[in-house]
Amino acid sequence: MMYIGVDLGGTGIKAGVVTEQGEILSKGSTPTMKERPYQEVIADIASLCRSVVKDAGLTMEDIGAIGVGVPGVCDPRTGVIPMCTNLGWHGVPFVAELRSHIDLPVIVDNDATVAGFAESIAGVSAGTHSSVFVTLGTGVGGGIIINGRPYSGAHGVGSEIGHMILKMDGELCSCGNRGCFERYASATAIIREGRKAVAEHPESMIMKRCGGNPERINAKTVIDCAKEGDPTAKAVFDEYVRGLALGIINLINAIDPEVIVLGGGVSNAGDFLLDALRETMKPYIFFKTLPYARIELARLGADAGIIGAALLGKQ
Ligand SMILES: [Zn+2]
Repeated sequence: MMYIGVDLGGTGIKAGVVTEQGEILSKGSTPTMKERPYQEVIADIASLCRSVVKDAGLTMEDIGAIGVGVPGVCDPRTGVIPMCTNLGWHGVPFVAELRSHIDLPVIVDNDATVAGFAESIAGVSAGTHSSVFVTLGTGVGGGIIINGRPYSGAHGVGSEIGHMILKMDGELCSCGNRGCFERYASATAIIREGRKAVAEHPESMIMKRCGGNPERINAKTVIDCAKEGDPTAKAVFDEYVRGLALGIINLINAIDPEVIVLGGGVSNAGDFLLDALRETMKPYIFFKTLPYARIELARLGADAGIIGAALLGKQ
């Protein structure tokens, strides 16, 4: 049996036909154009599903289910997406709408959860029973895999690890709370602190790299300068790693997974990030004499969304 995986993003929709082993047989994409009524977006998803099935030389009879990763949450009991800020959706009856086009089982989950699930089947955490996927991008997303299945909580809204509160009355978050993990562990945090740092240290290498315009600082600028030994950039990076380490320690203490998988733009820093993180975490581990989760980088890249979504349909 094959499965269709759909990766629904704010700018683009990607879909593919995937084998039970997580291999992509065909894939395609189309713009989301999210300003449209949701019915039109979902009609395009259905067309894209038909076209990738045709490209794979298959028919809908060969497909077991359609899995969809969305940048929000979906209530598994009703198939309704209560809120998806990225798409501006509220109370969208996603499953019923997609099934009005294609009569197959439809399973929806959060995009980061789906990517983490993909890694646990065909990526860096393949073969493990428990893992936590952490995406370090504009925000921080998460996917918790327990007993080989994505864990989405009692109400479909679990795995929102970016909004674990790390600091009482800390930095204001886009969710309205203060002190959320993503305020300290996202690319946005590096940029914010990088800008603050160059205001105090205009001699920093960061300032040269951004052409003297702090508005042009991105996470890579700061990380590259830290790698090259710039003290201001290094201080920003070290503080960032501390925030990331504390959030990951909380996850390890609560879940004790086999692997923590890091994805998203900041994870492109590679071993520089991994080495610093592993070292920074050590003093905070609760069970100091017992083994704890390996920290690894995600391996599947941009296809993780399609693969993980498709495999949601495999029971
Ligand atoms: Zn938050």
